[in-house]
Amino acid sequence: MKQHGILEIGPAIDCNKSEADRRLRQCAQAGLFSHAVDPVFGGLGDGFAGMCKDFEQLGVTTRDPGLILAVNAHIWGAIFPLLRFGSETQKTALLPKLIKGELLAGHAITEPQAGSDAQAMLVSAVTTPKGFRLNGCKRFITNTPIADLLVVYAKHEGAISAFLVRSDDSGVTFADGPSVQGCATASMGDVLLADCTLPADRLLGKVGAGNMMIHLALELERAFIFSAIAGVMQWQLKEVVAFAKKRQVKGKPLSDYQAISHKIAEMKLRLESVRLWVGKCADHCDRKKRITVESAATKWYASEAFLNSSLDAVHILGAHGLEGEHVALVQDAMAGRLFSGSTEVQKNIIASMLGM
Ligand SMILES: Cc1cc2nc3c(=O)[nH]c(=O)nc-3n(C[C@H](O)[C@H](O)[C@H](O)COP(=O)(O)OP(=O)(O)OC[C@H]3O[C@@H](n4cnc5c(N)ncnc54)[C@H](O)[C@@H]3O)c2cc1C
Repeated sequence: MKQHGILEIGPAIDCNKSEADRRLRQCAQAGLFSHAVDPVFGGLGDGFAGMCKDFEQLGVTTRDPGLILAVNAHIWGAIFPLLRFGSETQKTALLPKLIKGELLAGHAITEPQAGSDAQAMLVSAVTTPKGFRLNGCKRFITNTPIADLLVVYAKHEGAISAFLVRSDDSGVTFADGPSVQGCATASMGDVLLADCTLPADRLLGKVGAGNMMIHLALELERAFIFSAIAGVMQWQLKEVVAFAKKRQVKGKPLSDYQAISHKIAEMKLRLESVRLWVGKCADHCDRKKRITVESAATKWYASEAFLNSSLDAVHILGAHGLEGEHVALVQDAMAGRLFSGSTEVQKNIIASMLGM
């Protein structure tokens, strides 16, 4: 894999949309979208474990959870649903372009009134003689408005169906929307559908299969987004270890104070535990096993671990920790507890798999 390509991406300098667009395409050039995808469509045909290695490297070199979010929205929100549910024509037309970054994508589930409860979505699709007509609004959609293509979920014939919506389709606007403070280097916006007219070949998967497709997409996103965040946690750990060894308090290094060294030991344990959980998910996926419980546990554990380690890093670095990058990671980590389903949602999944 093109490790040198990942090394060239580097930390974010700006939070604007053209920069988000440019960095996402750089990730494509570094080969990050080609893992676990059949070579027929331009993929590497390797496994999930290899992908995790590159993802962690991305986290170390960029320490940019916004970019990591954008990469994952593109892969799990669009590439994998297409791989699994797309027709041969859809796959042949779109996958090579998505892998090369010629098209940028994501998925649109959330609406102003429907977050954790996706069943409360109001965006509607009706079947017309020539295809479909969609109406409504999606909110907090990663890679919008820069995306060329989104997988949009809508209420349709009494269930949820998935549609491939392009930014230049009639009746759709990929627009700026309310932005959030965490993961701010990712582009985020609304999808406005006003009699959006789609031809019949834009249905992705079967009519009414949308709910199952949302579960599968989020299952993968939850499992692997934190493999790149583990890279950020690795960088945080290195920073605090170096600081604690150098910073003198009452004539000795900060690291000699057990209150500090124990916090750092906890950061190390969290990092290794995130790697173990992600590795377990990769191993299951490489053996074609479902990861419903494993991915919920990974998302729950890893998002809490990242938040706790980000808070510890800022604390150990003292006022220096409040200067910029480290405190921004606390906000990113707060967002990490919400995207792909909040901590409570992951607990609900695990409990339901235990029959509760
Ligand atoms: C950075 C970022 C990127 C995002 N990108 C996308 C995207 O690309 N596509 C997309 O469709 N959406 C995206 N979202 C939206 C995200 O999926 C939602 O924020 C998430 O589903 C939570 O919904 P909500 O924010 O409406 O909170 P709500 O669902 O209103 O939840 C509010 C609070 O209630 C808790 N809660 C909810 N349900 C329960 C329950 N059953 N039991 C106990 N507590 C509960 C939650 O944990 C939370 O603490 C993104 C969000 C963020 C922050």
